[in-house]
Amino acid sequence: MQRLQIFVCKSSGALNLGLLRSPEHLADLAPGCEQEAALLTPPLPSSQAYRELELWRRRLQGPLGRLRWRFLDRRVHRPRVQPPERDTPDAGLLMRIKEVLAGRIVAEHRLHRVLRSEGYWPSQIGRALDTGVFKGEIIQMPGFAPAPWGEQICSRCGGSEARALPCRHCGSLDCLLCQSCSSLGEHRSCSTLLAVPGPGCVARPEPVELALDFELTPAQKEASLELLDFWEKRQGRALVWAACGAGKTEVAFALIQRALEEGHEVLFAIPRQDIVREVVQRLRTAFPGTELAAHFGGQPWLASGRLVAATTHQVLRFYRRFGLVVLDEVDAFPYQGSEMLRYGLERALAPNGQLVEMTATPAGRRPPRVITIPARHHGFPLPEPEIVLEKLPPWVELKPGNLPVSILEALGSTAHRWLVFAPTIAACETIQRVLAAVLQRPVVRCHSKLENRSAVVEDFRCGRLDVLVTTTVLERGVNFPGIGVMVLYADHSVFSASALVQIAGRVGRSAETPTGPVLFFAARPAAALREAAAMIAELNKQARERGLLSSAGLS
Ligand SMILES: [Zn+2]
Ligand SMILES: [Zn+2]
Repeated sequence: MQRLQIFVCKSSGALNLGLLRSPEHLADLAPGCEQEAALLTPPLPSSQAYRELELWRRRLQGPLGRLRWRFLDRRVHRPRVQPPERDTPDAGLLMRIKEVLAGRIVAEHRLHRVLRSEGYWPSQIGRALDTGVFKGEIIQMPGFAPAPWGEQICSRCGGSEARALPCRHCGSLDCLLCQSCSSLGEHRSCSTLLAVPGPGCVARPEPVELALDFELTPAQKEASLELLDFWEKRQGRALVWAACGAGKTEVAFALIQRALEEGHEVLFAIPRQDIVREVVQRLRTAFPGTELAAHFGGQPWLASGRLVAATTHQVLRFYRRFGLVVLDEVDAFPYQGSEMLRYGLERALAPNGQLVEMTATPAGRRPPRVITIPARHHGFPLPEPEIVLEKLPPWVELKPGNLPVSILEALGSTAHRWLVFAPTIAACETIQRVLAAVLQRPVVRCHSKLENRSAVVEDFRCGRLDVLVTTTVLERGVNFPGIGVMVLYADHSVFSASALVQIAGRVGRSAETPTGPVLFFAARPAAALREAAAMIAELNKQARERGLLSSAGLS
């Protein structure tokens, strides 16, 4: 942890206040005015130093401030400025620091680790940082800063959920520790953050190669062109609303190419860790000549590249950098509803940067530009759900004898294999037991507590299993050919409209089996059920109107 000390110096009649890592650096910042300078505090942890700096600013303002300055002049400790080791601070090191920080927001100790490994001494680094901050070339922030209403706000994530704990770094007994962004490593009120805005547009952009080894569907092509139009018109925000399985990721590739060619840096962010690896692979294949930096758990934060793929948590590491941010699966956990990640995203965008959000289930307010991809590659409409109003007994009382006949009839037909969704793990276990007892087909279960989950999923994919009972853990990201989907207790609060659209979207994804049944069993027609059905119907209507369905799909 780096402590900071408040200094004041008088140059050309005005009082300048600031923070220093060492009094020896004062000679760098205000050469020649050492006699007109004073240190106002001992070295303090960063958040405290910033708080006191604010107080001192107010104290030394105006005519009264001038009086105080005189009074202070006599009393306060003057730094005995020693001649620095070199005449000027290391300009090469300052350049290197700005290069490392460009477009990033980094804790000081992390920066130290990088520079120490390059052979720089802590004293050199501190001196270059003080110079950079004083010149305004480096932005320095305390770990926490007070909001106007008094709450302490984390400078890294914008969150206010913090615990005051004893701290081994600053020795304080109530150093704040941020609870919201702890997944990126410890962040305390005594941490210091350093940032430099990204370089923006590079002067001489070069052509960027885009290699797609497949052809876009007509619906994808239309959306891709619309995105380019959005970029040219500089509309700021766009929403790509795609049918489940319509392939939205590739639609953004032409736009990414355009932004890179114009010299911008591009971020492709996705909420889920398990998908980001696959996306990195797809981006690498599509942009063979472009350096790509991957940021997700365990990857070095310093990776360089003008195209960046990251999980949404990692956006908290960037600072005013990207001319274009593409955010895939906006509706997925943990991005959905997270104030923190939204804050990080806004900060990662360069001034005038543009944002494209992609989702299968738009929620909340939609931006003025909404681009839809209503049809899948095979040209069949999305399977529309059938809402069956049927009151099931509570799952603790569920027995082979009291299972509704309609469910048994559907599951008994051998035309499809079935993916059955249950709201909770307990319900999942019970339903699997009951179904296994009454059906003449193998029934297995899958939920987040299961050790051999991937083996079960693989068995179902290969067709070795007939009925798989699962929780929402399989609501997205899985592809099973030739299945029907059934949701039991579909009016349970865990089944949001977005989850239900994703669940329905598991059906009919392959060209061989483009259709299949989607049954929602509920005691009452909950709002989420109606909303999900309406979203699917709206996309089908658009696909029909725009002529994106094949003749087989229309019949
Ligand atoms: Zn935080
Ligand atoms: Zn501390």
